[in-house]
Amino acid sequence: LLSIRDLSVAFGAGKREVLAVDRVSFDIAKGETMALVGESGSGKSVTALSVMKLLPYPAAHHPSGTIHFQGQELLAMPENEIRKIRGDDISIIFQEPMTSLNPLHTIEKQIGEVLLLHRGMSGQAARKRIVELLTQVGIPDPQGRLGSYPHQLSGGQRQRVMIAMALANEPELLIADEPTTALDVTVQAQILKLLKDTQQRLGMSMLFITHDLGIVRKIADRVCVMQRGKIVEQGPIERVFTAPEHPYTKALLAAEP
Ligand code: ATP
Ligand code: MG
Repeated sequence: LLSIRDLSVAFGAGKREVLAVDRVSFDIAKGETMALVGESGSGKSVTALSVMKLLPYPAAHHPSGTIHFQGQELLAMPENEIRKIRGDDISIIFQEPMTSLNPLHTIEKQIGEVLLLHRGMSGQAARKRIVELLTQVGIPDPQGRLGSYPHQLSGGQRQRVMIAMALANEPELLIADEPTTALDVTVQAQILKLLKDTQQRLGMSMLFITHDLGIVRKIADRVCVMQRGKIVEQGPIERVFTAPEHPYTKALLAAEP
């Protein structure tokens, strides 16, 4: 479904140039979950944003390599074409929910827009679906929350609205950048279960970024370990967790509480 080859992304120029992502390659098959782990600043979010072509151009200059999604190459694709794919087939849950909720629109309007644009749903059917999505992500009194604005919700509730929005279009690929880090453990477990269930129902693939190796064990089929922009090790989780090869992976596993 997704095939990334030699992806490199640099920030800054001249002596200040930093390779945030350095010749990264991996594949995600249909229905499969790939976890991306690694220390802060290792390039996980930049990799995730590259797949959506949401890099802060021109700060991130000359990304190179190829990203094939359903047979189409995304890096070279013009903006108007990729916009369609982004909404119809790929969803992203950002690390920071305020970056993708519009402060001026109600919850109903934001999720409603996704349903209208990418599923052709409106009116009563859309409203019913929105309440269903909000219920699934554990928003208390979902009916009463339809008219709320993002600032009227807690941080954790905003994150859950983001997740509802990302699932509204029933994507082929869900990119989740630390989606549950801000949530308490019971909600976290509920969201992980929802993602797993949705995955089974839709045959959805996931690129799941997290610091939490416990979550990786629970949710992922394979894992990529990143350090300073490079993938230092990748493989099925059973193999990587029982017989890590790279010193950094060994250190990560040894540091697990
Ligand atoms: P974290 O676990 O803290 O979220 P990460 O692995 O997601 O870390 P990235 O956000 O991908 O790390 O950042 C990788 C590198 O790219 C870092 O060195 C960061 O400083 C740099 N970087 C990211 N975004 C920008 C930007 N907009 N401008 C300049 N440099 C950036
Ligand atoms: Mg990040």
